[in-house]
Amino acid sequence: MIDKVVIANRGEIALRILRACRVLGIRTVAIHSVADSEAKYVRLADESVCIGPAPALESYLNVPAVISAAEVTDATAIHPGYGFLSENADFAERVINSGFIFIGPKPETIRLMGDKVSAIETMKKAGVPCVPGSDGPLGDDDAENLRIASSIGYPVLIKATAGGGGKGMRVVHTEAALLNAISLTRAEAAAAFNNDIVYMEKYLGNPRHVEIQVLADQHGNAVYLGERDCSVQRRHQKVIEEAPAPGITEKVRAKIGERCAEACRKIGYQSAGTFEFLYEDDEFYFIEMNTRVQVEHPVTEMITGVDIVTEQLLIASGEKLSIKQKDVHINGHAFECRINAEHPRTFVPSPGKITQYHQPGGPGIRVDSHIYNNYTVPPYYDSMIAKIIAHGDTREQALARMRVALSEMYIDGINTNIPLHIDILNDGAFEAGGVNIHYLEKKLGK
Ligand code: ADP
Repeated sequence: MIDKVVIANRGEIALRILRACRVLGIRTVAIHSVADSEAKYVRLADESVCIGPAPALESYLNVPAVISAAEVTDATAIHPGYGFLSENADFAERVINSGFIFIGPKPETIRLMGDKVSAIETMKKAGVPCVPGSDGPLGDDDAENLRIASSIGYPVLIKATAGGGGKGMRVVHTEAALLNAISLTRAEAAAAFNNDIVYMEKYLGNPRHVEIQVLADQHGNAVYLGERDCSVQRRHQKVIEEAPAPGITEKVRAKIGERCAEACRKIGYQSAGTFEFLYEDDEFYFIEMNTRVQVEHPVTEMITGVDIVTEQLLIASGEKLSIKQKDVHINGHAFECRINAEHPRTFVPSPGKITQYHQPGGPGIRVDSHIYNNYTVPPYYDSMIAKIIAHGDTREQALARMRVALSEMYIDGINTNIPLHIDILNDGAFEAGGVNIHYLEKKLGK
């Protein structure tokens, strides 16, 4: 059994993991950069280790420093959270080789899913529906690439196998533009990811982003916890998420969910994971798998009652899943608004001191955040400072509760995107449900 966990992350997710550990009676080690020394969650942890200066490359991404922190504190396991080292297979391998438990899937699974071409190939074999595409990397044969594109049908998307964070993709509308686009994407991918392998996919015009949350243990058991709709995005960054996805029936959910759970069993997946899909004209198209806990996991927790981070800790300890598929029931509806320290219109980051803070509450409201009065948001990291999650018996109730929560949340001293959230929640199209991935950028462009 895991008895001491190093939390290799910062901010709200560090606090989230800390809380799960404390409830289970697991001791915690908060590692932090110099910029986060004053954070309250660092003090809440049983122990803390400063692992380096503010820049993430020298602290949260510094593998030897993170592993040394586990060594000096005699920890048993390392939880990577999301971002930073969470999907770095080499890191997971070094954690294990240093004698610690990595709270996540096996390094080979992370590696397999981190490469988009191999992930798609694996999913196809496991019966998960994928976007029609090149079935593997594109070669150097121009005629063959032109043939592939015309058989898929324009527009097509050229994607880097090592791409991430919305980078390394290019839409091609005409045959005349194809070959140049392939060379450009290749060159960019080589520079950005040190890997010039690219592949081709059909470019879907107006899809929604719908993803399936799974949990799998080390004993071959896997369940799906329903879906989340994360279509409200700006520059491929999610802004609002909800669960369940509007319009998805129990039957459709069961069909795609079971495919994902079965894929987990087939590939020997363990821990929490997410299958990301584009959803268009009632069809699901797999785009990638995230082999970690996600920012938006709370909406699933609110509608299923399953504590995903606790399950990760138990699974890593070698325990069997505490739930079977028949125990998973969807109860009501939940939204999550990501509160960022940024200007609500220009999106310019707004780090600095929070001079006044009032946190919302009431029935169905959950706030996952590490901020407090007089907390200084450092300029070095992601601008997300809080997540408001609202649950209700119905979508309407959850929406109404979220509106009230947003109106109560008061953050002074820095800019936040709360006004943008209020605006979206009062927009007729969002209210109706089922907007596609272009909704927010179109709305902002108006
Ligand atoms: P990343 O790892 O960079 O996030 P993804 O493969 O998850 O890349 O794609 C990111 C986003 O790009 C998707 O959420 C979607 O908005 C868009 N996208 C990806 N593939 C397609 C596609 N085949 N058709 C249309 N849009 C796509």
